[in-house]
Parts: sequence; C-alpha cells; structure tokens
Amino acid sequence: MTESTNPVAALFEMTRKALRQKLELGETEIMIPRENLERMPEPVKDYENLEEFENDINECTKCPLHKGRTKFVFGVGNPDTDIIFIGEGPGREEDLQGEPFVGRAGKLLDKILAAINFERSEVYIANIVKCRPPNNRDPEPSEMETCLPYLLKQIEMINPRFICCLGRIAAQALLDTKLPLGKLRGDFHDWNDRKVMVVTYHPAALLRFPQYKRETWADVQMLRKAYDEFKASS
Ligand code: SF4
Repeated sequence: MTESTNPVAALFEMTRKALRQKLELGETEIMIPRENLERMPEPVKDYENLEEFENDINECTKCPLHKGRTKFVFGVGNPDTDIIFIGEGPGREEDLQGEPFVGRAGKLLDKILAAINFERSEVYIANIVKCRPPNNRDPEPSEMETCLPYLLKQIEMINPRFICCLGRIAAQALLDTKLPLGKLRGDFHDWNDRKVMVVTYHPAALLRFPQYKRETWADVQMLRKAYDEFKASS
C-alpha cells in the first residue's frame, strides 16, 4: 500500500493497521508502532490571527528542510479572501525574501492573476512546504506530511471558497492522489465537503513549457467564472 501524503488519512491508516494487528494477535491493547507515533503530525493550536500563527511556527525544525532555510515562507495575502493559490514550496528567491512566488515564476503568477482581474493583494498565496527544498527538488512525502498541518490550519483560518493548486505536487498532496496533473486539471474537485478546488500548471512549469499556457488560461478563466457566480449569489 502506498503511503498517504495526507496527515489525516495517514492517521486513519495507522489506526486501522493497529486495530488489525490487535485482532490478529488476540491482544487486548492497541499496539501502535513507535516510529508511527513519532511521525504523527502534532495538532495545530488555535490562534487569534494568521500573524500569531506565523510567529508561533516560524522557527519550526520538524523536518530536515529547516536546515537549508534562509527564511521561513509562511504565505502572503488577504486573510479574508475567498480564493487561495497553493504551490509546492519556496524557490531560491522566495527563500531569500520570505515570501511565496516572488521570483520569475511569481511574476508570471502575477500576470495570470491580472489576466483574470485579480490583484495579488486580493488573494492568498501559500505553499505545501514552508522551507526551501535543496536545489529546488520536489519535497519528499515525509516533508509534506509533516508540514501540511500548517497549511491546513491556514486554510481553516482563511476559510476560502476556492482553492487553486498550482502544479502536480500541490494538487496531489491536497487531494491525496497519485493521478497526474493532466487528469486533475480542467475541472473542479470537492474538498472537505465545502471547498471547491481547481488544479492548473505551476508557473515555473509554464516558463519551461509555454505550450501549456493555453490550458492554464482555460483553467483560470473557469475559476474566475465560478468565483463571479459565487459572489453574485452570496
Ligand atoms: S518545511 Fe514545514 S515542517 Fe519542515 S521545517 Fe519547514 S516549516 Fe517545519
């Protein structure tokens, strides 16, 4: 069985394994392997606002990514927004500046937002992991699993109607799937019963493969249309 990247799903999986173990061995106590207990994400506390939350976690050392970090990249934008954009992790510029999407890919994201009449300050932007993976490699599943509770808490606090995953890593981590981006983009996905999510290409991928811009344009147009309909009905 593949390991889940979703901490809640991982917790259920661990509990199910422990219960099966109990039945098979005829034991009267649930045995949870020590290594699973050590990997369990700690519950995230409640906070008054995002600033208080950031101040509480910005020296996090829970996964190895903290070792190469210059700056912790919490997220930026409007805490009362109805739309949040999520990438995979900070790159070099983001690590230096402590803000997501500020390098070349960030400039392209600004253009994508402008094309659907959003200012960067109107939306919220964050990543799956808050510290830069070395040499811009993909975050490891264990790193994402450790960091994801922070993002889930941010989403809970912001409570956006729409989530837009930028790229495969963010989409697979949040939707807890191994499906490729090509199968995930171009449509909405339900998420936690009440959110609506759309998936599209990461701006960094568009810099390398500009032929995907047409599909990205279609995805964000679809997102804007749904956003406008939601605003008109609320
Ligand atoms: S990536 Fe996330 S879990 Fe890992 S050290 Fe940074 S903040 Fe902590």
